[in-house]
Amino acid sequence: MGTVVDDGKKEAQQEALQEAQQEAHGSLADLNPTVVFVLGGPGSGKGTQCANIVEHFGFTHLSAGDLLRAEIKSGSENGTMISDMIKEGKIVPSEVTIKLLERAMLENGNDKFLIDGFPRNEENRAAFEDVAKIEPSFVLYFDCSEEEMERRLLGRNQGREDDNVETIRKRFKVFQESSLPVIEYYNSKGKVRKIDARRPIEEVYESVKAIFAPKDEKAD
Ligand code: UDP
Ligand code: MG
Repeated sequence: MGTVVDDGKKEAQQEALQEAQQEAHGSLADLNPTVVFVLGGPGSGKGTQCANIVEHFGFTHLSAGDLLRAEIKSGSENGTMISDMIKEGKIVPSEVTIKLLERAMLENGNDKFLIDGFPRNEENRAAFEDVAKIEPSFVLYFDCSEEEMERRLLGRNQGREDDNVETIRKRFKVFQESSLPVIEYYNSKGKVRKIDARRPIEEVYESVKAIFAPKDEKAD
């Protein structure tokens, strides 16, 4: 049921998406990259394990959160909006995040990417598929209890404005309500590789390695 305001907003969003599509057209399609989405709650170990995968399997790691934080630092016109949303644990509009991801992929030169922390809701997912025309090879899902994630986030001290108890709880709620449905969607397509992420880093990586390693070869 669209009010006039809602319809106007939707139109503006669609225009922005189309613009992103045109900008990306040709080149991303030419690149036709291999993409693995890395998902899991805040503090589940996505970034840590991505660093391991990069080292051994030749992927490039793109963290959507890191790209957004870099965009804030660069003094972009969207900076204040992005910063306000991150402080509240809210999901930044798709067109912003997708543009940053597309740009990062095109600038990089590699054709294998780990996209970490995206898509965070169904709208992110559908928009990415529409605009970038990329389907992930699979989704790596780090499954971890909230208790353990909270302990890690409060202990990591990276100076992030969203690593405080209040924002952490909001991020958990957004993950449960908006991001888990994305994982369920890919699960229904047989694309989710779920990892028990409550274990120590080395043990988790053993499971990760088994997913990426070709069956007849050993990666060290
Ligand atoms: N964020 C977003 N869209 C994305 C990725 C991140 O809006 O695709 C925002 C969101 O506010 C999130 C914050 O950036 O809470 C931090 O995300 P990041 O992936 O760095 O951290 P995580 O919550 O996974 O630890
Ligand atoms: Mg991260």
